[in-house]
Amino acid sequence: MRKRKCTACGAVKALGEFYIHRRSPGGHHAACKVCHRADVNARRRRRLAEDEADFRARQRAACRRYAKTAKGRAAGAAAARRYRRTAKARARRAARTRLPADAEARRRILEYCEAVRTAKKIHCAFCGRRIPKPDRRVAHLVPVSRGGAHTRENLVVACARCTVSRAPRPVRLPAGMEDGI
Ligand SMILES: [Zn+2]
Ligand SMILES: [Zn+2]
Repeated sequence: MRKRKCTACGAVKALGEFYIHRRSPGGHHAACKVCHRADVNARRRRRLAEDEADFRARQRAACRRYAKTAKGRAAGAAAARRYRRTAKARARRAARTRLPADAEARRRILEYCEAVRTAKKIHCAFCGRRIPKPDRRVAHLVPVSRGGAHTRENLVVACARCTVSRAPRPVRLPAGMEDGI
């Protein structure tokens, strides 16, 4: 097996441990794969740190192109799944639904949830369909991610389906349903 010495770390490694580089005399990079990757990453970090605007723009454009490929989509979905399991993601989810410290604001939210739970007849604020008891959800009219507050005024009743599928945008309530009930 042909071997060569890495010019960066000095280790003697099999040729397969060097990236192919047709323009160089031996047909391979002078530095081994590990050293070459480290060098490329260091250069990239340096350029990002120097805040070269067009370099950043090119990197972002490349990311966007990659995200549209099947491989990129799969990687994105996997990363999202990993993120959802982190403590940070859990804390953000909790903050979205944490009851406010103000006693009056708290009481009004809890009262509303109880009313939604026990109402005989109730309709979804988004699709207008009547919701059976197990499918009743209380949702933010303006999503918290879009600046909506976690207050009674921003809560509406929604069916299970609408809470997962609705676009995150304010929705006009049908007449007579302004209160969500
Ligand atoms: Zn090396
Ligand atoms: Zn609905």
